[in-house]
Amino acid sequence: MSMLAPAVQRSTLGLHTLEQYEPLIGTAAVERIATKADRVRTMRVAHISSTFYGGGVTELLTPLTLMMNASGIETDWHLIQGTPGFFGCTKKLHNTLQGESFEFSDAEKTIYEEVVFENATRLHLDDCDAVIVHDPQPLPLITHFSDREMPWLWQCHIDLSSPYAPVWAYLRKFIEQYNASVFSLPEYGQDLGIDQHFVTPAIDPFSAKNRELSDREIREFLGNYKIPTDLPLVTQISRFDRWKDPTGVIEAFRKAREQVDCTLVLVGNNASDDPEGELILEEIRETADEGIIVLSVDDPTLVNALQRSAAVVLQKSLREGFGLTVTEAMWKGAAVIGGEVGGIKHQIKDGWNGFLVSTPDQAAARMVQLLKEPELRKQIGSRAKESVRQNFLMSRLLEDWLDLLARYERPVT
Ligand code: UDP
Repeated sequence: MSMLAPAVQRSTLGLHTLEQYEPLIGTAAVERIATKADRVRTMRVAHISSTFYGGGVTELLTPLTLMMNASGIETDWHLIQGTPGFFGCTKKLHNTLQGESFEFSDAEKTIYEEVVFENATRLHLDDCDAVIVHDPQPLPLITHFSDREMPWLWQCHIDLSSPYAPVWAYLRKFIEQYNASVFSLPEYGQDLGIDQHFVTPAIDPFSAKNRELSDREIREFLGNYKIPTDLPLVTQISRFDRWKDPTGVIEAFRKAREQVDCTLVLVGNNASDDPEGELILEEIRETADEGIIVLSVDDPTLVNALQRSAAVVLQKSLREGFGLTVTEAMWKGAAVIGGEVGGIKHQIKDGWNGFLVSTPDQAAARMVQLLKEPELRKQIGSRAKESVRQNFLMSRLLEDWLDLLARYERPVT
């Protein structure tokens, strides 16, 4: 087998180093973060989540775990396995944490806790210095590690502005066994007997989903999916989930199209731990008519090409812990209309770097305005990109975690 030329190797293998960020955040910031990485370099960290595929947690952990390793911190990522019944239960937990009032029955608690117990018996974490557990799916793991010596942190990525009280009370008995909880925003803080920290998500600007694309590549990727470009494109890219309000998007699109002709592209992948996706996709397919393209695919470069070519990107969520899709589109200079909920309210400053809306009518009005005013789109988009550069790149997320790990570093004995 012939050796690859060094230049090819360099561009083919994602480096995931802090140094890559220097042109974006400057030398001083890179040096500051590298010094913090040195302080915790001897730690070994394990992340635990429920899927390598689909959804924001995967999007975060993929680059974060690679960057932590590239910074010299040995970082593992373990998955828990589950049956469809288990993921049905955990999606219910997810929905109730986002505010729906459903009882979580004793039978569901048994399925949930038993599957997590089975996963615990396969997990060997003795040589770790810190364990970070993500979202409700693996939350009860901690009960099976009662002789642990290292700190355990629970990071919740969900919009926790109004969790359903009985379910929260049930989960709280697991949460309070952790050393600390980590939420995406201060407003998700809860009345808990453990420390709470706040870490806002971020994106990897070098991933296939976010890297620069040439016009030729954009045309090619849209062409691969037969997406017409004769009319301006409006898009929402999201798991097929009712919290993302795809029907509200379709309603807004129909209203907007009475005034400006355009094409709506709805793209979604289905996270392997989200059992509701297929049903929602079917509903959307039934509702979608002329001018609406619905694609169920997992292609990061298509996401990239669409966010770069759309005149308007929508993320009309009804709940959103933090919308990675919003940040991804803003990074590409897109004009984004987001639901005025959860994290999106922190990502978009209404009228400055995007628009916030609460109803399909409001979304339609903003769509029409943006479709009619290319200069406004440009202005909003360039502010959007700058706000992501300043606040929401992976280098900042790495720094937040380095600060947090330093607080929990155990003294060497
Ligand atoms: N995503 C994707 N393809 C899709 C739909 C979503 O790659 O068809 C990605 C999206 O780009 C983002 C993540 O999945 O990186 C979703 O994260 P977000 O925080 O927006 O929502 P979540 O799914 O975590 O609720």
